[in-house]
Amino acid sequence: MSYEAVIGVEGHARLLSQSRLFWSGGTMFGRSAISQSWPLCLGLPGSLPVINRTAVEMAVRAGLALNCTIATSNLFARKNYFYPDLPKGYQISQYEAPICEHGWIEITASEGKKRVRIRRAHLEEDAGKNVHVTGTNGSRVDLNRAGTPLLEIVTEPDLRSADEAVAYLKGLRDVLMYLEVCDGNMDEGSFRCEPNLSLRPLGQKEFGTKVELKNINSFKFVKDAIEYEVKRQTKVLNEGGKIRQETRLWNIDRGETAVMRSKEEAHDYRYFPDPDLVPLKLDKEWIKGFRSSLPELPAARASRFVS
Ligand code: ADP
Ligand code: MG
Repeated sequence: MSYEAVIGVEGHARLLSQSRLFWSGGTMFGRSAISQSWPLCLGLPGSLPVINRTAVEMAVRAGLALNCTIATSNLFARKNYFYPDLPKGYQISQYEAPICEHGWIEITASEGKKRVRIRRAHLEEDAGKNVHVTGTNGSRVDLNRAGTPLLEIVTEPDLRSADEAVAYLKGLRDVLMYLEVCDGNMDEGSFRCEPNLSLRPLGQKEFGTKVELKNINSFKFVKDAIEYEVKRQTKVLNEGGKIRQETRLWNIDRGETAVMRSKEEAHDYRYFPDPDLVPLKLDKEWIKGFRSSLPELPAARASRFVS
């Protein structure tokens, strides 16, 4: 049986703001573990979030460059889960009212130009990082990153191959770097991506069950992990098996994916509007001002150079 791959990508871009998303303290990569942890990001009682204007501006500019509609009314929600790198016990994110929706990016696919639809892009704070030190029997928690501003950018399942996924991610990264809203560094995790992938028999309309891929920090690994996963899922289906909806980690040394956890559902997170934050209203004229001041974007520059 021949199958077609169906891929949608979730990307995270660390916004190049000096401050946290909801706190005025700074955000340098690689500082010592406690030097940049702020009361709010440590979950200390009594600390209250205040939205970072620069991060909002960067999200608006990115949304405009990605052909999105910008929401004039924004809500922030608490996404609740327990993990050692998340002292508050919830991440402040956007759920029902993301700042950007319904955009697209054009890529060059094997059959020519193709639009990849962007479902939404929303603001959220990053978590800290668990550090597993080899040769010791413990792990450490580094909270320096907790609370740094991210833009999560989610596509529709419009991609059909590893090459298309890489073309999309390169295009997205270029746009964000041209706008100077993200440094694009994949090693340091400033630009991260999680492809979702399913297979369907050629000609079938309905999508199959998807698997989410994590631990991918280069374009080469995007390609390798997707190609591996296409082979794995093809084998499972051809042997009469079923794909389980799960999150799988790319193992660089073994060149294969392995189950991390079965996939959680949105309702598991008990999203609700953060009562510490008022709805964020954006002025239409303010948004318009950013549209007229966007720099020349990669696609426009490429066609200008060609002509
Ligand atoms: P979840 O709630 O599991 O994160 P979403 O609906 O938010 O799922 O989609 C996450 C990503 O997975 C999106 O980029 C979307 O385009 C993609 N996606 C959704 N369904 C499928 C599918 N059946 N196959 C491949 N990708 C999919
Ligand atoms: Mg999702």
